[in-house]
Amino acid sequence: QSAAVVGRIHALAPRLANQIAAGEVVERPASVVKELVENAIDAGSSRIEIELESGGAKLIRVRDNGSGIAHDDLGLALSRHATSKIDSLDDLEGVASLGFRGEALAATSAVSRLELYSNISDEPADGWRVVAEGREMQPRISPAPHPRGTTVTVRDLFFNTPARRKFLRTEKTEFGHVEEAFRRLALARHDVELILRHNRKTVHQLPGGNHQEGMEKRIAQLMGRAFLDNAMRVDMAATGLALRGWVGLPTHTRSQPDQQYFFVNGRVIRDRLVAHAVRQAYRDVLFHGRHPVFVLYLELDAQGVDVNVHPTKHEVRFRDARLVHDFLYSSLHRALAETRPGSGGADDE
Ligand code: ADP
Ligand code: MG
Repeated sequence: QSAAVVGRIHALAPRLANQIAAGEVVERPASVVKELVENAIDAGSSRIEIELESGGAKLIRVRDNGSGIAHDDLGLALSRHATSKIDSLDDLEGVASLGFRGEALAATSAVSRLELYSNISDEPADGWRVVAEGREMQPRISPAPHPRGTTVTVRDLFFNTPARRKFLRTEKTEFGHVEEAFRRLALARHDVELILRHNRKTVHQLPGGNHQEGMEKRIAQLMGRAFLDNAMRVDMAATGLALRGWVGLPTHTRSQPDQQYFFVNGRVIRDRLVAHAVRQAYRDVLFHGRHPVFVLYLELDAQGVDVNVHPTKHEVRFRDARLVHDFLYSSLHRALAETRPGSGGADDE
């Protein structure tokens, strides 16, 4: 007979509740980088600088030139379920921002030493600084100079949750995850200038701007020149749906599905329906056990897709799944038909 492990019910202290919730959002340094950069993108930044030390375990700093946070909102920004991005369930249905759950800053500050500088004005002297340390104290707010925009510094991730800290891998592995998160964000937003530094060395420096040439340069930098030289452009539209991007030739494949990027309205996602449509389209042209390489951007009306399926927002639900699936399949099938031997570019045999 084992001892009962349940006792009386009581409400969790807010700090503990925050730390438990943080586990869903903040898994490792890469998750912090993703959330902070998404915030910077939502703030309309044209330039975002990311700096890490020791794979991010020691330091993560994200600096942006976006809208900044108003003084009166600074305390709220770090509290749970506080967001400027939605007001109602209706807003959620058509959400265009990357964030909306109001959890990332609260979760991160619950498990790290977080410092935030922000300014909504062009006068640097109007800036503010907020510090929060593991939620053991209320965030402290004081005046501090900062240019228009926001800088968030996260030190000693999981310093107060040793069980989590133990799960951090080597510096190299953690930085690898950060780089992958960076790659996704950089592929999602070609228009934003992005810089990634690790241990004071510049790892990526990607100029912004939305012109074709810059876009291809970025694809080449992040996916390799060989991909671009061995890929077909996709540019298809149907009512309410558009698919753009690059699909690798059937001769340019990999043994792992590790270079497959699919974006829905600017958000990278993993989806079984999408994977199925792509697999079907490649079915006749790919050798068994090989995996295609692609970077694809699907745009559809925000009402047509539910992004509030999971805290990390890597999953979505399409309202008309069949329609999306068939559009993807037929667009890719048509693009790949041109590569099929003897097809002469015809649509179907
Ligand atoms: P969410 O992004 O889901 O709203 P967060 O916890 O990530 O939740 O951020 C809380 C709020 O803080 C945001 O809604 C936004 O108003 C503000 N904020 C966070 N980061 C930035 C930033 N870099 N620039 C401007 N505002 C920011
Ligand atoms: Mg956010």
